[in-house]
This record gives sequence, C-alpha cells and structure tokens, in this order.
Amino acid sequence: MNPKRIPLIAGNWKMHLGLADAAKLAREIREGVGAGDAEVALLVPFTALAVVAEILKGSPVKLGAQNLHWEPQGAFTGEISAFQLADAGCRYAIVGHSERRRLFGETSAIVAKKLAAALAAGLLPILCVGETLEERESQKTWGALTEQFRAALTGLPPVEAAKITLAYEPVWAIGTGKTASPAQAEEAHAFIRKLASQAHGEGFASALRILYGGSVKAENIDALMAQPDVDGALVGGESLKPISFLRIIHYKTLAAAGTRRP
Ligand code: PEP
Repeated sequence: MNPKRIPLIAGNWKMHLGLADAAKLAREIREGVGAGDAEVALLVPFTALAVVAEILKGSPVKLGAQNLHWEPQGAFTGEISAFQLADAGCRYAIVGHSERRRLFGETSAIVAKKLAAALAAGLLPILCVGETLEERESQKTWGALTEQFRAALTGLPPVEAAKITLAYEPVWAIGTGKTASPAQAEEAHAFIRKLASQAHGEGFASALRILYGGSVKAENIDALMAQPDVDGALVGGESLKPISFLRIIHYKTLAAAGTRRP
C-alpha cells in the first residue's frame, strides 16, 4: 500500500450481538488496539451505537453504522437518518453493502442518495462496490464495478468525493470463506483507482483509500495488505472474534516483527 494513504481496518458486525456482548467486544478491541499503523473502526448495529460510543470515548477506535436513510428526518418508520447517526457519535457509515443491494433491493440510484446524505451529515461513507460470481464468470466484473462506482460518484463535487473510502467487496467472497487472491484484489483495486482518476483526476485517485472486503482473516491479511493498491480491509465474520480481529488490525506490526500467524 501507498504510505501516503492511512490504512483503515473496519469491522462490520452486521446483525450480530446483544448489548452485553457488543460492550464486551468493543472493550476488548479498545484495550488491544494499541498504537497501530491503521485507523480502526467498528461498524455496529444501531441498537449498540450508544453503548459502544461510550466505550470508545477517548480511544482512537472510531464508531460507525452499517446503513442509513437518505432523508434527514420525516415519516419513514423504521429508518435511521445520517444526521441521527452523526448525533449518536458515528464517524463512518457503510453505504451500498452488497447485502443491502442484493437482499433489500438497493439500486445504484438509492446508493447515490445515501452517499450524498451521509456526506451532508458530516459522516465519512465507506462505499461498497463489487461483482457477483455470475458477473465474474461472464467477464462482466469491470462493467459492474464501473456502473456502481460512476452511479455513486457522478455529480459529487471533488471536495465531497475526497471524503469517501471505497471498499471493493466481491460478492462471491463475502461470508463464503473464499477470499480473492491478493492478485485478484490488486487488479480490481487498480481498476477502481483508474475509474477514480477518470472521475476526478490523478490527485483524487492517488489519495483515495480502497479497502478489500470478503473473508478477510488473520491468515490472509498480510498478503492482501502487501498489495500496492490495498489500503485496508472491511472485515465481517472475523471482526466478531477479538483475537482474530486484533491480529488483522496489527497486520503490519506483527508481520514486521516476524510473528507467526495464528
Ligand atoms: C462484509 O461484511 O463486508 C464482509 C466482507 O464479510 P466477511 O468478512 O464475513 O466476508
């Protein structure tokens, strides 16, 4: 990865953990995080935001949410706005996760509205893009990434676009145990960086942080992070296991110290 970009390791807890377990996990991460090279964020369920916000106070670990509604307020029963998330202490919010696109019918147009709403509320969006297995097998990966990237970023002023972190998450690798190889991840990240350059120029592209997500584990993080265009990870399942997630967070330190992988 490029030393000019600060890496981000973000844990997506998805729809897991009650309050007691969320508090316990947040405490374990806060205590184990140390002064690493990466920024760390916990993207927790709405119900756990207040509890985890309290635990993370004064620590370098940032709080985030997994979804938001694009309107700032109103009669939208069951929804949560970007403003409410910022007010609850969130710094980050995932936008366009493939589980939202696939299971809840979020189109690229909806993702674009959510992205704009997150930015308007002062949140830093983590925008997910990625191809399905079918798209990969029918050579449609680059088309899918282009469509998702452009639909989300078109019309955004460069100063706003600069606040976004991208996450390349091949859908076939999420929660499946199948990780993209470091070479596959690098190829996709380099492609996304090219799209970024076409959208807003070289300076924007070279500063854009692009995370990899899809079955990241303690065993594969070092090889992924060794790729020049991989700037961090969005971690699902393994972010619920403190030892494993802390090992992922400390990828560089442990790798540099020659520590054996668990
Ligand atoms: C994710 O939730 O974004 C994800 C990548 O999940 P997992 O690490 O479990 O594949």
